[in-house]
Amino acid sequence: MNRAKVAASDHRNSHHWSLATTENTSRHASTSERVPGRPVASADHGAAIDSFSVKILVTGGAGFIGSNFVRRTLEDAYPGLEGAEVVVYDALTYSGNPANLASVAGSSRFTFVQADIRDAGALDDVLPGIDAVVHFAAESHVDRSVRDSGIFVETNVLGTQRLLDASLRAGIERFVHVSTDEVYGSIAEGSWDETRALEPNSPYSASKAGSDLLARSYFRTHGMNLSITRCSNNYGPYHFPEKVIPLFVTNLIDGLHVPLYGTGENIRDWLHVDDHTRGIAMVLTRGRAGETYNIGGGTELTNRELTEKLLDATGRDWSYVDKVDDRKGHDLRYSVDIGKIQSELGYAPLVPFDRGLADVVQWYRDNRSWWEPLKARAAL
Ligand code: NAD
Repeated sequence: MNRAKVAASDHRNSHHWSLATTENTSRHASTSERVPGRPVASADHGAAIDSFSVKILVTGGAGFIGSNFVRRTLEDAYPGLEGAEVVVYDALTYSGNPANLASVAGSSRFTFVQADIRDAGALDDVLPGIDAVVHFAAESHVDRSVRDSGIFVETNVLGTQRLLDASLRAGIERFVHVSTDEVYGSIAEGSWDETRALEPNSPYSASKAGSDLLARSYFRTHGMNLSITRCSNNYGPYHFPEKVIPLFVTNLIDGLHVPLYGTGENIRDWLHVDDHTRGIAMVLTRGRAGETYNIGGGTELTNRELTEKLLDATGRDWSYVDKVDDRKGHDLRYSVDIGKIQSELGYAPLVPFDRGLADVVQWYRDNRSWWEPLKARAAL
């Protein structure tokens, strides 16, 4: 594999990242306690950070959710991360897109590195001088994992292991592993809290569960200052048009049919990407080491109900919907209990679904030049 291609400013300038005491932090360490190649925080420490001049490596930062986190961080949208520098580390697979970062590419606080998380040498080149890692990079589309699971294991499991190892070697002080509620499986009633056993049903969610367990082991074994987030289904701008909302919106805008799996009774909890990344920033700055935090949006809809809303928003009717064979192993319902992140970190979803969806439909109407080439690329 190729070594990292580094663009924009040199990411190795030295900056401070210090662990600070907050209500959620029982102890703190200063950068002077840091031993090269060893993590600073140990098992039960709080993870709160002091924001000035921190340098954050964002894997998968050219994707849908990672790029939102990067844009919002560089807009200083997150308390505790004002002034942070961001290094995006992304292999630019089919779903990675530099256009997602166009609005911040000129920032002196932004650096882009094109490299693969499976490439230990490239990671060793880039990680020195980084204070925190937020790990989004993954193969993320369930349908693709049903067709071919190999790359999911390579990227999501092996890639995460390489990244964790390299972070350990570099003495990274804070690590957030971004995961999914799909690791819990499917739940007919009630909601999962973070202590639920993992029962993933698709190769995608199984590979994410594997990466979650590896991440947890680096906290338990090596004392890495690491937290895990598990979110529900995201929607928002810059969403690759193979996922249900952007696929349906872009097809319906163009008067094309949309495929609805099975009876359409599967239920998903929808989370605006702005709410998701705000929750991640809270976990990064104030979450406890070794802990997992669910992040949800609080809007459960069947796929039929979602389709109805999208038909309404685009002025189409049910004649545009083709019933297709159900996805193999299709999970019936996901539902996360977000009580922990609410009570510990004060998180609540802020974007009402109907407003968020209307904005997204408008965004796709206004940004055809962004999504048209992607639909061709995904061979939809
Ligand atoms: P995405 O597919 O839009 O982006 C993934 C990014 O990772 C891309 O930029 C891609 O180029 C990069 N990448 C892939 N393989 C890589 C590799 N080997 N090395 C370096 N970079 C690589 O995905 P997303 O929807 O933004 O999801 C981001 C994270 O959030 C993933 O970990 C996913 O499992 C998780 N998640 C997503 C959702 C959702 O609704 N989209 C829900 C729950 C969790």
